[in-house]
Parts: sequence; C-alpha cells; structure tokens
Amino acid sequence: MNSAPDESLNKTTQRPVNISILGSTGSIGKNVLDVVRMRPDRFSVVAISAATNAELLLRQAAEFRPKYCALIDENLINSSFANEFKGLGCALLYGKEGYKFIASLDEADVVVSSMVGASGLIPTISAVQAGKRVALANKESLVIAGEILIELTQRHNAMIIPVDSEHSAIFQCLNGENKSDVRNIILTASGGPFWEWTKEQMAKITVEDALNHPNWQMGRKITIDSATMMNKGLEVVEARWLFGIEAHKIRVLIHRESIVHSMVSFKDGSIIAQMGRPDMRIPIAYALTWPRRIELNIDAPALYDIGGLNFYQPDFERFPLIKLGLEAAKRGGIMPVSMNAANEMAVDAFLNKKITFLNIAEVVLKTVEKMDGNTCSTIDEVLYYDGLSRIYADEIIYNLSKRQ
Ligand code: MG
Repeated sequence: MNSAPDESLNKTTQRPVNISILGSTGSIGKNVLDVVRMRPDRFSVVAISAATNAELLLRQAAEFRPKYCALIDENLINSSFANEFKGLGCALLYGKEGYKFIASLDEADVVVSSMVGASGLIPTISAVQAGKRVALANKESLVIAGEILIELTQRHNAMIIPVDSEHSAIFQCLNGENKSDVRNIILTASGGPFWEWTKEQMAKITVEDALNHPNWQMGRKITIDSATMMNKGLEVVEARWLFGIEAHKIRVLIHRESIVHSMVSFKDGSIIAQMGRPDMRIPIAYALTWPRRIELNIDAPALYDIGGLNFYQPDFERFPLIKLGLEAAKRGGIMPVSMNAANEMAVDAFLNKKITFLNIAEVVLKTVEKMDGNTCSTIDEVLYYDGLSRIYADEIIYNLSKRQ
C-alpha cells in the first residue's frame, strides 16, 4: 500500500541525497546529522535550522557546510552570530519565513520535519505544498491536522515517510501489502519508567524520575510523553492518518524490551513485525533512502542475549492518556487538537515543577472535556482551537499549581 518511489530519489545511486532539516538542534535533528556523519558518501546537508540554539546551529554549520541556515528567533538578527554564519559561506535566514524557505528548497530531495510540538505544523505544510518527500518526525502535526495534511500531500504529489520508530516499523511491515488485507495495526510501547509503579508511587514521581527512560535516549518533551504514555496516545492518532486505517483497527501492546518496534496483523492470521535495536538512526536512514536500505554500522539485536520478548495489555487506569488517544483517533476533529495542546502545556508545567506528574493527565482530560462540542476542519481553525485549548489548559494548570 506504500505508493511508488519518488522519481527524484531514484537518482540517489548517482549522487548524495540532499537533506534540509527543520529543527537540527533537537534530539532527532542530531541523530539525522549522525546518520550523515556515518555515510557522507550518501548524504549531503543543504539546510539546517533551529528555534533559538544559535550556538549549536553554528557548530553544525561549520561541520556540515549547508548552503542555508534558519533561526526562528529574530532577536538574533543583529547578534555576532550572523557574521560567523556568513564567514562559513552560509546564508542565514530568520523567523517563520526562513523556515518556510528551507522547507521548500529546490535543492532538497528530502525535508526532515523534526521540530517539537504543534509549531512543526506550518513548516511541514510548506514542505508538503512544495511537493517534497518529507521524513516526518514531528508527530504533532499529524495528530492535530492529519486529515488536512494527508489531503495536501496527495494534492501536491508530496510524500510523507515516518521517522517515528513505531510508524517506520508499520510502514516497513506494509511494504507490498494491500490495505484491505490488514486486520490490525499493533503499536508497541515500552511502558516507560513507571510501568510497574502503583498509583500511590506515581503520585510522588519527580521530574528527574520521569526524564530517566529505560530504553530510549530522546528529547525532554517526548521522554515525559513516554512516561505518561501520552506518546502512545499521540502515536495512535498519527497512525490513523498516516496509514489511512480505521481507528478501531489500531491496538497498543506493552513490550518492555523495545526490540519489536510495531507489527501489522493480516486477515489470514499472519503477523509481520519489524525488529531492531532502539536506535533512531535506523528509522531515520530508512526514511532518507526508502525504498532502498544502506549499510549502517549498527548491529541487529542479539536475540539469544535478550532471551525473551514479552508483551502485555496496556493499563488504561494508570495510563488514561493511551485510552484518550484511541478515542481521539476515533472521533477526530477538535479532540486530538485540544488533547495535544493541553499536553504540551502540561508537560511544560511539569518540567517547570508547577504541577505533579499525575496532574498532566488531569490537565489534558479536563481541557479535552471543556473543548468538546467545537468543530474544526481547516488549518486556521486548527490553529485557533490549538490556541484556545492552551488558554484553558493554562487556567487549569494555574488552579492546580495553587494547590501544590
Ligand atoms: Mg515512537
């Protein structure tokens, strides 16, 4: 059910794939650059960008010598950084327009969308409207505007290839398959650091506890999302749009070892799974080179050392945000928008020690309830209700923080 290979990328056997990165200083962006470091013969970086981390962006520019760099923070226009970028022969662009420019660069074969949160939506749309192949790590854009984004992708002859490890796994399991043969999509989840904790223990979780993920090294926002398991809730919605699969066919299974990255079960009773070490460079490289694979100096999991692979049903009582994600995938419209916006606000408040760990789910559930009844079907409406949900979430956070 994966569509035909992008013609422009068939040339990749002759020359390196030109990559433009929306968000190169975050965890995924750094991993993308690491893949380039591993295979400089296959990849070339034409543009990099950051929200505010000009210092790291400059170091990346010095190493990878992209033609363009972009910074969201326009306060840095007159800083000493501007001249240093110029000295490297790199054009420095600013603000949303700068991001829009590098998202739609003629020279880019692949645009990596790796910003964090709903702010990744507009740059991702720019890349799609330019008909690009988009390696998508920014799951929030599919969560809040999946239907619109997929419609735009088809209209502009663009392509979205998932970077998220679960979705990359499903994408690989669906190679050459027919959508009508799919019985279920099974998203695996590590369960995060608190899978075995009781609700009483969970009431005392600190920021440091939550940032300590057992299997994956990731950015702060997604690490907290993995601990609350909102990440899996978001990924259910992401899968629903990415694969055009009905929400009731999506399942979640806890798999503590993080070796099976997800599975697809078919109508004949077969299950196809994709396995690998928990290393983001594997799905990143796959998104950059699909439908081919390249040699990477990464070992396959030693299954005899791991010994056993275990699977459990999710616990919706201790992790209500998985269930909320399943429901949001079914209902669509306003629900995923308000769920995502409230979660971004709540995670930020938790990281800043304004609310407790269990308060995160409370903020999300209450905001979703408050926003229920609204409808949104255009990008402007999505952005409007995203903003409104943040105002409601902020109010709930303020009231909870007073109780601390
Ligand atoms: Mg994931």
